[in-house]
Amino acid sequence: MKDILIVGAGISGATIANKLANAGKQVLVIDEKNHIAGNCYDKREDGIMVHQYGAHIFHTSIKEVYDFLSQFTTFTDYQHQVKAVIQGKEVPVPFNFNSIDILFDKNRAHELKDKLLSHYNLDSKVPILELQNAEDKDLQFLAEFVYENLFLHYTLKQWGLRPDELDKSVSGRVPVYIGTDDRYFPWDAYQGIPSQGYTKMIENILNHENIEIQLNTKFCNLNSDDYEHIFYAGTIDGFFDYKLGELPYRSERFENQTITKNYFQSNSVINYPNEHEYTRIIEHKYFLNDKTDKTIISYEYPEAYELGKNDPYYPIIKEETTKLYQAYLEQTKYLPYITFIGRLGDYKYYDMDKAVNRALEVFNLYQSQ
Ligand code: UDP
Repeated sequence: MKDILIVGAGISGATIANKLANAGKQVLVIDEKNHIAGNCYDKREDGIMVHQYGAHIFHTSIKEVYDFLSQFTTFTDYQHQVKAVIQGKEVPVPFNFNSIDILFDKNRAHELKDKLLSHYNLDSKVPILELQNAEDKDLQFLAEFVYENLFLHYTLKQWGLRPDELDKSVSGRVPVYIGTDDRYFPWDAYQGIPSQGYTKMIENILNHENIEIQLNTKFCNLNSDDYEHIFYAGTIDGFFDYKLGELPYRSERFENQTITKNYFQSNSVINYPNEHEYTRIIEHKYFLNDKTDKTIISYEYPEAYELGKNDPYYPIIKEETTKLYQAYLEQTKYLPYITFIGRLGDYKYYDMDKAVNRALEVFNLYQSQ
């Protein structure tokens, strides 16, 4: 008999399992997949660490999260950069001063950068939906340019929606950056990739004498009454058998190719906002700087999530779905022995660090009760 059941062996479930195991609880972690690590799952193929569910870059400003994970891995000093192809040129994303220099002639670029600096602080970030409200003519021009060339068509492919139809936090993840730092996350104090990959890191988090893991195991095949508490990282609407309606999720399909050449592209991730059905191409060997004479790339195709057909990757955060989620959350009040965690349980667009942070908070709350 175990004290605690954790549904989902991803980064959220693993974090809380570890904390509870250290606190002396006997913990069973189940996952319906045949591997641990959820969507962080990576695996070596032809000597290259392949991120099986898309590029995962650890980045955070939360020291507690960095310190927690650092018990289980070292991090490389990888600093993520993304390029987007706009008008046939590769420009840094978040769109910044260097992007402006690549796309506009010298005088115009100078004018636009000066204008940005007269309205915003150096090294600040401005969400595109906010920049669009600028009254200055040059800033309006720039906002329209960036909206049309970087955000609109990418977002239509990624979500099937325009940026303004989604919660503003979604496009706000990739703001316009007032400066020349080409990194994707210039505002985060800690970033890197686990030196031996995410799967190994999560295996280490779960490696505890009080933790048992059962893969290929569905929650519905277990008896909830056998446990003092359940932490559930699956979809919250699925847990309630969709009784209030289905929450929408976005899914992804990856088409991988192994190519016999040293490198395929100039960067780990190149976005194609305007061309092609895929949103981006990932070249995996950049992440751990793998030295091989082959390379593996993934074309990333967003698609609608369909129950039983593919996996839910992203909650689609907008007004109606937030309301439906709140209605499900109400239902959880009648189930004090269950806590929902993770992207799917909380219906939140968590990055890895936010998922760990939430799991640490949930653990602290549980301990204090
Ligand atoms: N986005 C965009 N163009 C880009 C990059 C991002 O329009 O070149 C928008 C798009 O709506 C995307 C969101 O910003 O879904 C968040 O991007 P992020 O790179 O954070 O997405 P993730 O890596 O989590 O898929």
